[in-house]
Amino acid sequence: MLKAFVDHHTHSNFSWDSETSLEDLINGARKVELQGIVLTDHIEFHSGDNGFGYYNYDKCLDAFEVIRQTTPDIKIKFGAEVSHHPKHLSEIKTFLHSHRFNFVIGSNHNIGWQEVPDAISKLESEGDNFKESLQSYFDETINLVESNFYDALGHLDFPKRFIKKKIPSDFFLKHYERAIRAILTACLDMGVFLEVNTAPYRAQIYEPYPSFPILALYKKLGGREVILSSDAHRPEDLGTMFNVVVKELSKMEISVRNAV
Ligand SMILES: [Zn+2]
Ligand SMILES: [Zn+2]
Repeated sequence: MLKAFVDHHTHSNFSWDSETSLEDLINGARKVELQGIVLTDHIEFHSGDNGFGYYNYDKCLDAFEVIRQTTPDIKIKFGAEVSHHPKHLSEIKTFLHSHRFNFVIGSNHNIGWQEVPDAISKLESEGDNFKESLQSYFDETINLVESNFYDALGHLDFPKRFIKKKIPSDFFLKHYERAIRAILTACLDMGVFLEVNTAPYRAQIYEPYPSFPILALYKKLGGREVILSSDAHRPEDLGTMFNVVVKELSKMEISVRNAV
């Protein structure tokens, strides 16, 4: 029973990496009794990225408007997940200013010029220990938040999911504390929502993005609330482990906010 919560990050087949129709996505939300969902299909601006050129704003908005008429029982909002990219700042800005969205997540999917999964697998094959090599990832994430293009920051410690060797929950905080502190401070200063994303639980990592130690630092810096999301790509992903994570957050005195 998730009636109190909106799932702020979901993908349909308007995203390059999801095969789920809007109908099935909404049925998934209905099944776990969510209050609502934000549709946040991927938008890529870098031609080297896998999903580049796939997203079609007009078709996606049309389909959204049609389905919204038939689903008065569940709140659905029109959003996007933009892959932030340092080389394409003015295109991203222009696009976001000229298209209407209820809610936009900015996510960093790149390490240098490579996508995170490729970069991690290359580093791992070279025997890298990840104690320094992710610096540019976190530094670029500071820039993402400070750009002020987005309503929320997506999956702050995303690279952890692709590291095959198990790393402790406080590993990133230990090795990248300065940058992570700057990211969290920027979120608070700019009024950018921090997303607590439960997708790692579906990949046998038993904590959200960001990790609980990072969330504890957020609280220490004055963070009082977060938004919740599953990053669903399939109907059965909606609301993944929301109850468990909400309980943990409430122990930390962090409240869950519905931003839409
Ligand atoms: Zn993402
Ligand atoms: Zn996503």
